[in-house]
Amino acid sequence: MKDKVVIISGAASGIGEATALLFGKEGAKVIVADIDIEAGKEVVKRIERAGGIASFFKVDVASAAENKSLVDFAVSTYGRLDIAVNNAGIGGEANKIVDMSLEGWHRVIDVNLHSIFYGMKYQIEAMLKTGQGSIINISSILGSVGFEGSVGYVAAKHAIVGMTRNAALEYSSQNIRINAVGPAFIDTPLLDQIDDDIKKQLISLHPIGRLGRSQEVAELILWLGNDKASFATGSYYPIDGGYLAR
Ligand code: NAD
Repeated sequence: MKDKVVIISGAASGIGEATALLFGKEGAKVIVADIDIEAGKEVVKRIERAGGIASFFKVDVASAAENKSLVDFAVSTYGRLDIAVNNAGIGGEANKIVDMSLEGWHRVIDVNLHSIFYGMKYQIEAMLKTGQGSIINISSILGSVGFEGSVGYVAAKHAIVGMTRNAALEYSSQNIRINAVGPAFIDTPLLDQIDDDIKKQLISLHPIGRLGRSQEVAELILWLGNDKASFATGSYYPIDGGYLAR
């Protein structure tokens, strides 16, 4: 990872934060991109305190223009873009289809799905200039199965898997690898809105007997970003404590 330039969106919290800290520790130049300025700057400080190199960039991933500005920032600050982790996301409105508001539907699709297209569009353009790159799109186990009350989230996460495959068909021959990661339920602030009884039920869906940890997902993302994963492209990698084995 030494000197690799990496953008990580949603890096102020949870999986993105753990990934940013890990890439920083491994010697990458990390752009911590998030809508939360205070928490994002704190992650930069932690990377720097550990001897790493990092910068914060405020982005709303639902905006195409801000995704472009983020890539421009990476290139103007560090000279190029090697790796992008498209991780920012929200849980969105929890309702069944009939009760799902149109605003709730559009919001989760904007933040969780359109963001990935906007991100890849500008990231790939920058990577083509250096002739190499790796993109990791954060989907979910809900990229391959449903979950009641989460139609927008599930639709976005399934679509991320499809877009990842398509992008890999289009750019793998130009040395840009594109993969999706599918975590099961990971103990992050995203799950804060879920009450303890439901959390217990969620745990029971994981044969391993617990929720995942952000660090465990970060290790898979690090591997996919690394040149060691040189034959890995166009795939979806669940990391799920056995959730999908049922
Ligand atoms: P989290 O809530 O801990 O962190 C998400 C980060 O994204 C936050 O820092 C937040 O400020 C940022 N963010 C939200 N909207 C944004 C926007 N519009 N623009 C820029 N930044 C924005 O969540 P997490 O659990 O770490 O989730 C990270 C990713 O992993 C998401 O895509 C999520 O869907 C996915 N995921 C999470 C789980 C889980 O159980 N936690 C499971 C599967 C997939």
